Amino acid sequence: MPSTLLSRRDLRFLLHEWLDVTRLTERPRYAEHSRETFDAVLDLAERVATERFAPHNRAADLTEPTFDGQRVRLIPQVKAALDVFAETGLLAASLDSSVGGMQLPHAVSAACFAWFQAANVATSAYPFLTLGNANLLLAHGSAEQVDTWVRPMVRGRFFGTMCLSEPQAGSSLADITTRAEPQDDGTYRLHGTKMWISGGDHELAENIVHLVLARIPGGPAGVKGISLFIVPKVLLADDGALGARNDVVLVGLNHKLGYRGTTNTLLNFGEGVHRPGGRPGAVGYLVGEPHQGLAQMFHMMNEARIGVGAGATALGYTGYLKSLAYARQRPQGRPVADKDPTVPQVPIVAHADVKRMLLAQKSYVEGALALVLYCGRLLDEQRTAPAEADRDRARLLLDVLTPITKSWPAQWCLAANDLAIQVHGGYGYTRDYDVEQHWRDNRLNPIHEGTHGIQALDLLGRKVTMRDGAGLALLVDTIRATVGRAWKAEGEAAELAARLGGALDRVSLVTRRLWERGDPELALANASVYLEAVGHVVIAWMWLEQLLAVEAATGPTDSGDDVAFYAGKRQAARYFFRYELPRTGPQFDLLESLDRTTLEMREDWF
Ligand SMILES: Cc1cc2nc3c(=O)[nH]c(=O)nc-3n(C[C@H](O)[C@H](O)[C@H](O)COP(=O)(O)OP(=O)(O)OC[C@H]3O[C@@H](n4cnc5c(N)ncnc54)[C@H](O)[C@@H]3O)c2cc1C
Repeated sequence: MPSTLLSRRDLRFLLHEWLDVTRLTERPRYAEHSRETFDAVLDLAERVATERFAPHNRAADLTEPTFDGQRVRLIPQVKAALDVFAETGLLAASLDSSVGGMQLPHAVSAACFAWFQAANVATSAYPFLTLGNANLLLAHGSAEQVDTWVRPMVRGRFFGTMCLSEPQAGSSLADITTRAEPQDDGTYRLHGTKMWISGGDHELAENIVHLVLARIPGGPAGVKGISLFIVPKVLLADDGALGARNDVVLVGLNHKLGYRGTTNTLLNFGEGVHRPGGRPGAVGYLVGEPHQGLAQMFHMMNEARIGVGAGATALGYTGYLKSLAYARQRPQGRPVADKDPTVPQVPIVAHADVKRMLLAQKSYVEGALALVLYCGRLLDEQRTAPAEADRDRARLLLDVLTPITKSWPAQWCLAANDLAIQVHGGYGYTRDYDVEQHWRDNRLNPIHEGTHGIQALDLLGRKVTMRDGAGLALLVDTIRATVGRAWKAEGEAAELAARLGGALDRVSLVTRRLWERGDPELALANASVYLEAVGHVVIAWMWLEQLLAVEAATGPTDSGDDVAFYAGKRQAARYFFRYELPRTGPQFDLLESLDRTTLEMREDWF
């Protein structure tokens, strides 16, 4: 039975037949690896995700974490699964071998982790957060901080969190108020409240390493005065042994629509419940220089946001495969051309409208997965391309693609989950099938790590204007190169290339038009429409790339399975270009007209 979590065949196609990840092994960083080691790690990820993570996905949703005022309790399967995950070493899949990592390419490690996100996004959130935390410290922490905090995280002894949000400051981090008072011994004492902190309290690991944004008194106002601190739940003695409780307390758990197996917390720092050294205040250690906290956080944002896009994709993907399996076995109705009630019913997958819903899902989730892995490949280029110009190029392209890679899957793989429910009919609306949970879990993704609206402002307000538009120019040129290859390929690829070329012209024109008056309020009024239109153009590009890879891979000796796989890819590309890309026409029209409807809407007219 093929997995209903992800498609191994699709991963093989994307990683090997399209992105050719094995070529990376020619570079020193990946020289220890081979196609065999990549495939072995993917096998391991599939097996552990299937056997340890998927089985308690529903149970962790039904039995939420509880807090009795002293301890947080989760169902035991969560810890059991995370212990096995730690043993596999997969947490450190892409990290340097010097800190115990496997030094796998990002494209491969993202594919591995997608198995866990598809199997159980809530349990996989703990290592996801821990890896984000470890990456941040590896980039900005001192050698001592890496030794003290990162090494135990890599081994699964400590888990990590990211503490940015406060009750009054979510999108606007300029307004955080948590303060960090410098102490004579070089440490800081933190006081304040952090809201929405995922993995903020639990007993799944020996310690929790909070990375906290806070203000050092006297620093500049706004984002320029924010610093980053390590604030452990349990302080360490000089020999590294666990010591006294730090002054970080759980006020309560948030009760969420989805992602229920991940504790989500309101934390108080420095309330005085615990008194390290006999005084109130949460002991914190500054990371890097003062007032660099947000810049440090943003440094790692690309990876975290691509990870959120990957999670959204994985949830969409498993919903698609489950609705496909359901549609193949659910008999209902007869063909339009043959309604004879004496002949057996057909499975719903035979109906054109059900095929439409399945094709839509397929085009969203496979398009999104291609984008996520492409960005993983760009991270690898940014890190290891031999020429500096190629590393810069990858960095710039990644900067422009990041808001899209976070937001497009969050919107459209959620739409895929909605369609997966629809394919199940009434059963999809019950808790007897997984698809409703996938939808609820996925509903978080347009909200956290920067909302949809904030990603839109990032794309149109920063990314396409930075360096005099160099990022957008690079994106357009890169897509244009694919269009050029498709022209040469002739046939259907050339036909789709013509459509993509037309949409691409509009991206350039509309972006110029939006900014030509130099009025940010007007330019950004419809930033979300812009994000969505450009996102669709980018996914159309991903589909044209896949079509070209299919044409390069197909041959007369293909097995029956391969013939069907490649035909499915072609049909999904066709679907995306015929049903989805045309949506951008009215969006670009609206943007080009510099429409002021939202701007002119007065608050008292609602
Ligand atoms: C389940 C869950 C897990 C989370 N995990 C973490 C975590 O681990 N660590 C952490 O630090 N945070 C975490 N968050 C917080 C999350 O990042 C914030 O919820 C998010 O940034 C939005 O902030 P907010 O909720 O205050 O909404 P607000 O910022 O109040 O936004 C509300 C609405 O207004 C819009 N809006 C706000 N400002 C603007 C603007 N300037 N222009 C246009 N539109 C705007 C937003 O797009 C949104 O639609 C989590 C949240 C949830 C729900």
